[in-house]
Amino acid sequence: MRRENPHNSTVGASHAARGPCEVRAALEAAGCRYTSQRSAVYSYLEQACNHPTAEQVYQGVRERLPHISLATVYKALEALVVAKLANKLTNGDGSARYDCGGDDHYHLRDTSTGEVHDLPAKFDPQLLQKLDPQLIVQLAEQGFRVTGYRLEVLGEFEPRG
Ligand SMILES: [Zn+2]
Repeated sequence: MRRENPHNSTVGASHAARGPCEVRAALEAAGCRYTSQRSAVYSYLEQACNHPTAEQVYQGVRERLPHISLATVYKALEALVVAKLANKLTNGDGSARYDCGGDDHYHLRDTSTGEVHDLPAKFDPQLLQKLDPQLIVQLAEQGFRVTGYRLEVLGEFEPRG
């Protein structure tokens, strides 16, 4: 149902599942309220492999909660991001997609459809040092403290005939 993309079978990483108690604890620790709608949004996100947009999350969650509003879904997603239960993957065109956090991982983006998938590659915490051993020190001298990095591989899936 949610795996409409045929490429999901080849690209995808598993995220550690969190139970409702963990979701509640993370939300409350971040100063956000726990609600059943937020829990439902998290559950949907956790199952989805396609890094859905807010609109897609809304359509999916409505199957379980027909009366939920798009505004509530947006607020739920923002709360999950604040609580580090979800990541917001922004794009230059202003569109955003979400994934349910988990371990650090890379993404690939199909630039023709905008779809985002997890990259089946091991995350390398030392990659910035490999790019330039002086980079982090130089940035620190400019007053910039590095807290992480993101990598997105760009390309297009060939149409399947
Ligand atoms: Zn991801």
